[in-house]
Amino acid sequence: MGQECALCNELKNMSHVAYVGEHVFVLVNLRLLKPGHVLVLPKAHRESFDALTKDEAKEMFEVTEKCSRALKKVYDKHAIAIINPPARRSQRHVHMHLVPADKGARDYIAAIENLPHNVESPPEIREIVREEIARAMEED
Ligand SMILES: [Zn+2]
Repeated sequence: MGQECALCNELKNMSHVAYVGEHVFVLVNLRLLKPGHVLVLPKAHRESFDALTKDEAKEMFEVTEKCSRALKKVYDKHAIAIINPPARRSQRHVHMHLVPADKGARDYIAAIENLPHNVESPPEIREIVREEIARAMEED
């Protein structure tokens, strides 16, 4: 499996790898949205986040913070982190995108999905959403 994985191969040939930790590495994206667009991902081929070991999961977030500080230093922009749902991933090897950004995740999502983004939601709507999600998570 790992043999045919483009992201596993990137770790093997090392030419676009910016950082290698114990369990996690940072790869400069093949299709840069802008300079500084990187992926943070486990060295082992894992196909979902819940397949990560506890050590891998912990290091994913530590390296995300470390890399975010580096992106701020290099590009003078705070990075946003984006995790694609499995159905939207072009690679099966789990990864997190980090992109130096001028705005926050909420602004980007609102712009892409054409949503108002500074309107406070009524408590009763938030309660309905809370109930639906809590029920679904209990059943999972
Ligand atoms: Zn892989």
